[in-house]
Amino acid sequence: MPSRHEAAITLGIPVEMAKRHGIPAQISHSELAELDASPPPWLAQSRANRTGTRPVWATLTCAVCGAEEHARPKKWWPEFTLLACDTHEPAELPAPAAGTERSFVYGVGSQYFGAVDAPTDAPTDAD
Ligand SMILES: [Zn+2]
Repeated sequence: MPSRHEAAITLGIPVEMAKRHGIPAQISHSELAELDASPPPWLAQSRANRTGTRPVWATLTCAVCGAEEHARPKKWWPEFTLLACDTHEPAELPAPAAGTERSFVYGVGSQYFGAVDAPTDAPTDAD
């Protein structure tokens, strides 16, 4: 049976919202499909409000081993070029494209770090 966490990912809502609206810790596949197909008003409202905003869940995929994690996107996340598990070395990642400079962001999701490749000749705000 899917957990509340998995149900929240399927429905595209935060886990806290699922809990607040009485989604049980374990939910049957048929109940979950029913919620998804004919959402109650609170769920329909949440989905309507979300149009055009950042997704509730992001899928983090390791560029080295392909491991995936669903995580809540953070406001401070930049546009990641690549993501990888904390267990990998930066040298294991595919090399950045020519003319770009790579910087790293740590603490993404529960076990990832991100690489951000930016053009080295990009105009900056410093001028
Ligand atoms: Zn990995």
